[in-house]
Amino acid sequence: MRKTVKFGGSSLADAEHVQKVVDIIKADPSRLYVIPSAPGRRFKGDVKVTDMLIKCFEIQKHDSDQGREYFKKIEERYNEIIRDLGLDFSLENEYRTIISRMEEGLSREYLVSRGEYLCGRLLSKILDYPFLDPEECIRFDARGQFDENLTYAAFEKFSGMEKFVMPGFYGANESGRTRTFSRGGSDITGSIVSKAMNVDVYENWTDVSGFLVADPNIIDDPGSVREVSYGELRELSYMGAQVFHEEAIFPARSAGIPINIKNTNRPQDVGSWILPDDQITGKHAFITGITGKKGFVAMSFEKDIGSDRLTFGRKILQVFEEAMVMVEHVPSSIGTMTVVVSADEIKGKEESILRRIRREIDPYSMKVERNLALVAVVGQRIADVIGSTYQILKAIADQNIGVRLVIQGVNEITLIVGVDEKDFEKTVECLYEYRQKAEKEQSEVD
Ligand code: ASP
Repeated sequence: MRKTVKFGGSSLADAEHVQKVVDIIKADPSRLYVIPSAPGRRFKGDVKVTDMLIKCFEIQKHDSDQGREYFKKIEERYNEIIRDLGLDFSLENEYRTIISRMEEGLSREYLVSRGEYLCGRLLSKILDYPFLDPEECIRFDARGQFDENLTYAAFEKFSGMEKFVMPGFYGANESGRTRTFSRGGSDITGSIVSKAMNVDVYENWTDVSGFLVADPNIIDDPGSVREVSYGELRELSYMGAQVFHEEAIFPARSAGIPINIKNTNRPQDVGSWILPDDQITGKHAFITGITGKKGFVAMSFEKDIGSDRLTFGRKILQVFEEAMVMVEHVPSSIGTMTVVVSADEIKGKEESILRRIRREIDPYSMKVERNLALVAVVGQRIADVIGSTYQILKAIADQNIGVRLVIQGVNEITLIVGVDEKDFEKTVECLYEYRQKAEKEQSEVD
């Protein structure tokens, strides 16, 4: 068994956590490829090293002395970890290199990536694992997009490496300029390394024991999902669960590598497994997780369409597109189309959109419904269980909650229910209870 292990910022925030990380790696000889983020927040209100670096870049752009002064605070984050761990090791030379690059007018991405770089140097020293700089193999194209082909070709040179530490979050383009992924991008590095080194498992270590079944702000200690398919994960993260970077799914998925989300503070917990659809054992209830958000607006348009039938939908959507308003859902029937958008997205644009639709499409009715919350019930087995939709809606109806909207695609991985914002929490609660009951009954059958 060979594994890639990626550790998020909260797992590397201070010496106590770094020690836990080292213990986790040493406890399992199959943990061979180590991908660290930059140190995250140590306490509420603390600042992540990456954010400090962003600030440092802004300061040094205007005043290089002040920039260097601010950089000392970043050095101190690492020095504190080194001191508290009692290590005989120093990153002074690394700091000097970064400062001299600052004097030469370094790029923003170079400076912002140093959080991961320094963490990688530190871990490589503590673990006595070779350090592999991602600039050697994670390639970006001229537009700053990840270049898959060049990357996997570049990795071939390193395919014989038995183990290494590689900082997450960045790489370089062909001319050697540092480029970074979007925020949280170390997850992507971990996934790319997993595919490139052809490991058996990608462990992604964070500060929660996987994906929670429901929002802990609504449900006390909801427990975590054992298994989630790639498809379910996409639905869960779309509506709120932000444990894993969305783009990080693709490399592992294309190589069929399972991803295990684990908790650095509770390594004994199983965590959540992200698996290819056909590897899901199905040992949980047909509902995997419940997520959702408040703050949606539903705009409905009705028209006796006749010959306009072909163009009715496109024309409406085009108005939203040209107003740069992202459309979330479009439930429709003949001559009626409802466009669901987030209230934030449409703020300040509603009037002009309605005016344009009246002018260009001339519907005989336009209705705007506000204060809508969407609750997504996610589970790939919703499709296999006859009556599942009925049961979900019944659980809501039993609480006397009115349903304003139902959206279910043919893949049936998610059932989205629109309710009044005031009923949002109550809806999540009753669906959670229903899910737990169903899971208990299921395990009694197994
Ligand atoms: N350190 C980067 C960030 O804060 C990347 C990461 O943590 O994955 O976004």
